Amino acid sequence: MPSPTPLDELNAEQRQAVLHGAGDPAGGPPLLVIAGAGSGKTNTLAHRVAHLVAEGADARRILLLTFSRRAAIEMTRRVERISGERALPWAGTFHGIGARLLREFAGRVGLDDGFSIHDREDSADLMAMVRHDLGLSQAETRFPAKATCLSIYSRAVNAGEDLEAVLARHFPWCAGWQAELQQLFADYVDAKQRQQVLDYDDLLLYWAEMMTVRDIADTLGARFSHVLVDEYQDTNRLQARILLGLRPDGRGVTVVGDDAQSIYAFRAATVRNILEFPAHFDPPARVVTLERNYRSTQPILDAANAVIGLAAERFTKNLWTDRASAAKPRLVTVRDEVDQARYVVEQVLANREAGAALKQQAVLFRTSHHAGTLEIELMRHNIPYVKFGGLKFLDAAHVKDLLALLRWVQNPRDRVAGFRVLTLIDGVGPVSAARLLDHLAASPDLRWALDTVAVPPRGAAGWSGLRDLLARRANWPVEIEMARAWYEPQLERAHEDAAVRKADLIQLQQIAAGYASRERFLTELTLDPPDATSDEAGVPHKDEDYLILSTIHSAKGQEWRAVYMLNVVDGCMPSDLGTGETEALEEERRLLYVGMTRARDDLHLLVPQRFFTHNQAPGGDRHVYAARTRFIPTGLLPLFELASWPVAGPSEGPRAAGPAVDIGARLRRRWQAPHSVQDDFDLASLGD
Ligand code: ATP
Ligand code: MG
Repeated sequence: MPSPTPLDELNAEQRQAVLHGAGDPAGGPPLLVIAGAGSGKTNTLAHRVAHLVAEGADARRILLLTFSRRAAIEMTRRVERISGERALPWAGTFHGIGARLLREFAGRVGLDDGFSIHDREDSADLMAMVRHDLGLSQAETRFPAKATCLSIYSRAVNAGEDLEAVLARHFPWCAGWQAELQQLFADYVDAKQRQQVLDYDDLLLYWAEMMTVRDIADTLGARFSHVLVDEYQDTNRLQARILLGLRPDGRGVTVVGDDAQSIYAFRAATVRNILEFPAHFDPPARVVTLERNYRSTQPILDAANAVIGLAAERFTKNLWTDRASAAKPRLVTVRDEVDQARYVVEQVLANREAGAALKQQAVLFRTSHHAGTLEIELMRHNIPYVKFGGLKFLDAAHVKDLLALLRWVQNPRDRVAGFRVLTLIDGVGPVSAARLLDHLAASPDLRWALDTVAVPPRGAAGWSGLRDLLARRANWPVEIEMARAWYEPQLERAHEDAAVRKADLIQLQQIAAGYASRERFLTELTLDPPDATSDEAGVPHKDEDYLILSTIHSAKGQEWRAVYMLNVVDGCMPSDLGTGETEALEEERRLLYVGMTRARDDLHLLVPQRFFTHNQAPGGDRHVYAARTRFIPTGLLPLFELASWPVAGPSEGPRAAGPAVDIGARLRRRWQAPHSVQDDFDLASLGD
């Protein structure tokens, strides 16, 4: 009997996709794999790449585009496992690969190869500077906020729509400012070019534009024999332009995705890209659909299929599985978020007792702050966790300060970085900082400018250390140590909890030491910040077991044995934002579908009867009463096991405020799962 090959692990349709175009050095005609969640799309893509390499394709000529860096690393690992070959140098996100290519071709498209990359916050700050220079500051004129301006600009760029259409469709309340916004964006683009900075959108925009330059397009087209894209349903118009620019005839192109999982329309992604892909070519691309789900049990799949079955529009079909199970997904009503957190902790621990490691369990939520109560509960029980999505390590002010300093050393024309750093100095305010930056910008000779600049006397000491850093340019990573030494006194002055923050900076320095140069460090960190808050912050160690907490958006493409979804109520899912427009509402429905389809064996949807809202509108933060999400109407209830928790005893009366405590249950539970003693006798929660 012949020995099994990796292809034997695949079903017939998956194998067709892997073998498509085999033997054609030009990569074969374009291919689309479109199918529902857990049908093995990503796995098939990995097998395809591995097979190509095994058949002699040069791994350096394969461009593999994924949605996150984490996904790229995971895919590379899968390919290595299947093919036994070493890594793929061109696997990454569109933005990450774009940054590398632009660095390489900078000279040919009028960019300085030392360009720096602004994250969203830096971009909004630059937008604010430009807006201020135009006399459109928000306070006086009620002009849109900087973040809104950036969103409008970003949507126009990514969707390739003109400003008027973007305003009318997505920002009608800003439509009266069209002329001013037009001017603002023109000046913003100007400022970026003068300062040699690119924002996230530019990485795609410059790349797409670069593909219209004939000889560059030819060079890049020839560099890659195959271009493969995962999660194609979440790409935007610019990304489609890039792909087609690389391969106008589609040869060697493979895209995979699921229209029912498109959840990034709020960032201008369009499901049209995947739906229109086949017809874009003549003859049309080959389409392979997959019908078997390998991930979830039948009851989980039934419930997920029913939820997405109510969608207004959908291309992919329902899937089947042979993973029978008696356990339906649970729809659990709890009183409030405190009970919700307790339920999750109880179940997570019970599951661990039954053999599911914490890492095989995930808690998913619509937005990051929904996890707050749970995080407290987890800490009380000493359950380690890692949180994905939401606030990042890099968002902390002190980490941003140190990065801004390095960015300014990298590119002294970067005004946002310069402004941030200068105003850290005691004695230098916004006016002096702007004057200083003007002086530096006006002179082509940086050294001369640094020596002749006029600094307010009180700021002289702080400035002199900074000048040395800018003028001398030490070796990497010694430089970050010097930068930290300069920054620490400013940190101590500005923050009472300086000691904790200093520890973060030492951490940052350690991360920096892993990169070959300042430029690589800054680029990678800006584009793919450490995913989780505690990812780089030391706890827990990667080898240890920890529970996964994640926004649904960050959970894309992944799977766990047990999944708990928080706040499956109207107001959270759909969120308040989503309740207006039909399209936005449909996206929220798909979000629920994406969350549910992450579960393999065990799915819990939690429905707190009241939850806490963080609201900037009048009324502020408050508790609101909630109802089960509208995406699970009564007709779907038979697909779930309905439960309430804790099981209410007849004597239990209404509760005034805060959680009631069932001490008996706690004492019993204590012997069921390894709770900490502190929690069992937590007097604080008995107080009310
Ligand atoms: P999503 O839509 O969520 O991104 P997907 O379609 O990309 O899902 P994968 O993540 O590739 O699906 O696969 C889902 C699970 O099914 C994985 O655990 C994978 O190993 C398994 N799987 C895929 N194909 C097969 C197969 N032919 N035999 C056994 N298991 C498979
Ligand atoms: Mg996938």
